[in-house]
Amino acid sequence: TGHLIGEENRGLEYMFIMMNAARFAVGMQGVGISDRAYQKAVAYAKDRVQSRPVDGSAKQPVAIIQHPDVRRMLATMRGLTEASRALAYVAAAHCDIAHRHPDEAKRVEHQAIYEYLVPIVKGWSTELSIDVTSLGVQVHGGMGFIEETGAAQYYRDARILSIYEGTTAIQANDLIGRKTVRDGGKVAKSLLAGVAATI
Ligand SMILES: Cc1cc2nc3c(=O)[nH]c(=O)nc-3n(C[C@H](O)[C@H](O)[C@H](O)COP(=O)(O)OP(=O)(O)OC[C@H]3O[C@@H](n4cnc5c(N)ncnc54)[C@H](O)[C@@H]3O)c2cc1C
Repeated sequence: TGHLIGEENRGLEYMFIMMNAARFAVGMQGVGISDRAYQKAVAYAKDRVQSRPVDGSAKQPVAIIQHPDVRRMLATMRGLTEASRALAYVAAAHCDIAHRHPDEAKRVEHQAIYEYLVPIVKGWSTELSIDVTSLGVQVHGGMGFIEETGAAQYYRDARILSIYEGTTAIQANDLIGRKTVRDGGKVAKSLLAGVAATI
């Protein structure tokens, strides 16, 4: 027995309410696993002692966090994670306003921006999480590749995020087709105008 939910021929539209929430949540998984990989890499880098400092400031081996290339990797991990978290929070704020603003026109406007950002939060944050967790393995050196530290497990766990709830290419199709072309770029332009105004 099939039950009609809402109006006929609007099923796909209704499904996207669930899909946007699910895709946003997977984007947040990307942010979360990136942050966990970063925290673990920092802790390891402070603990692991290997090689003398490149500037000759000590005769003894130092913790690897003192080596510039390790710092580069950690700073990259942190920068990418903070950027993806910031984007997700901006999207979440639009979602909150879309639910709570007393003015209906404002609700509609913010909902459209939220929906526009969802494929970016999903696609971009999850692709980044693969890069960040891969760097996490690299910071751990050989200990990253074998299983004991857990760094490789983050990398493997991140690998599914760009696949389920719509692969990255499907997010791109959604962003360009459904969210940009369909309204003639209206939401995209209003979002960019907001960015320009902030700058
Ligand atoms: C661990 C796990 C858990 C899952 N959990 C769930 C779940 O709870 N519920 C659920 O419904 N599903 C679930 N899935 C299924 C998941 O949503 C699909 O695997 C995912 O949507 C990709 O579809 P597919 O595997 O058929 O790949 P395909 O669609 O065959 O894609 C293969 C490749 O082709 C590309 N491709 C396909 N179509 C296009 C296109 N139009 N343009 C450009 N490139 C394209 C894709 O980007 C990808 O790179 C899960 C999958 C896994 C692995």
